[in-house]
Amino acid sequence: MIGQPFIQAVPVLKLIENAGYEAYFVGGSVRDHILGREISDVDIATSALPEELKRIFPKTNDVGIEHGTILVHYKGEHYEITTFRSEENYTDYRRPDKVSFIRSLNEDLQRRDFTMNAMAMDKKGNILDPFAGKEAINKKEIVTVGNPDERFGEDALRMLRAVRFQSQLSFSIGTQTLESLTSLCHLLENIAVERKTVEFEKLLKGPARREAVQLLANTGMIQYLPGLKGQRAEVIRFSRHLKQDFQLAESWVLLVYELGLKDKEIEGFLREWKLPVQKIKRIKQIHLLLLHRLKNDWNPELVYNAGLEDAISAEMVFASLQNIVGSTEKIKELHERLPIKHRKELNVTGNDVMGWLDKQPGPWLRGLLEEIERSVIYGIVPNEKEKIKEWLNASNLRSGKN
Ligand code: ATP
Ligand code: MG
Repeated sequence: MIGQPFIQAVPVLKLIENAGYEAYFVGGSVRDHILGREISDVDIATSALPEELKRIFPKTNDVGIEHGTILVHYKGEHYEITTFRSEENYTDYRRPDKVSFIRSLNEDLQRRDFTMNAMAMDKKGNILDPFAGKEAINKKEIVTVGNPDERFGEDALRMLRAVRFQSQLSFSIGTQTLESLTSLCHLLENIAVERKTVEFEKLLKGPARREAVQLLANTGMIQYLPGLKGQRAEVIRFSRHLKQDFQLAESWVLLVYELGLKDKEIEGFLREWKLPVQKIKRIKQIHLLLLHRLKNDWNPELVYNAGLEDAISAEMVFASLQNIVGSTEKIKELHERLPIKHRKELNVTGNDVMGWLDKQPGPWLRGLLEEIERSVIYGIVPNEKEKIKEWLNASNLRSGKN
């Protein structure tokens, strides 16, 4: 039985074959199909050259034509189709100096990273498996196609991919492949940070994330990851508190916490990983909430200022650090009971207050508005303009803080 994404793409393979070329499903989709995992998109490899594909399909985009990949639009779907290719001479440990288009499937499979990723499937669902990828999958093992020293020497990113797949699939890494990881991890120096970040974040989302992080530490790979050099003990501690249900932001918060970074240092660390500014902001905010939480319990004002989502995230990390089962009930309840969830819901403006008190704007206004906001949050005064005015008249707050 082949799944829906394949069935839908079978006519694409047929069209290529009818034009006299070979075409197969390849890569991650075939691996995931054998594993019984859900398949998102299928990759197709073919003996047809990009120009030949363009003659078959009227609608295409040159997404990566220099590596032989084009995007084919067909019946409302699009497919990445790559011409069989071989790669030669990796002098910089990351990109081949030259890719050559070839007509042989086997040679194309041979350039792929791991045996589980080096299988092909034809339109009928027959698996072509020249490097025993199926066997590796049965043994739950990640093994390079050919000599691991050579393969990691060609492209050092494959080392991080190995650990990322370990995390995603809960596989182990073959003995020889593991030895190479340890002896060649310095080659990661040649890999762009952005690509490391992509793999690291995928790794942090996988079910075997703990083991994978420990592997990064134990092989020495962390020496070549931003800001983790010499931090083995901290990274191991991080792995121990890393929970299965953590979202990515929570994992980053835990990491910066275990590294003992101060608020200012966090910015620099996350910038080294080239995370987007918005994401950095959120991680810093949750980290601050975590520090607060380590000293105090939640109260309405804290939940209000944090927002429900970030408060829950901070609580998740807190619970893990305390080795307790996280409970977000209390936060949800506090949030539920808040008379207003956001400043913009406050039924009074600076203009109202200035009018009532007949005073010019000044620093006093902000302080007073905050006091009103706090009183509304705690239910001391209802969130109604008239009530707030009466309350202000009756209280000694009206003199304002000058
Ligand atoms: P994912 O499920 O994350 O997409 P994938 O195996 O499909 O995993 P891709 O990065 O989409 O990974 O690559 C598709 C295929 O291309 C891989 O299965 C593998 O055969 C090959 N490949 C990708 N990156 C490399 C690499 N650095 N070296 C060798 N082969 C690679
Ligand atoms: Mg893929």
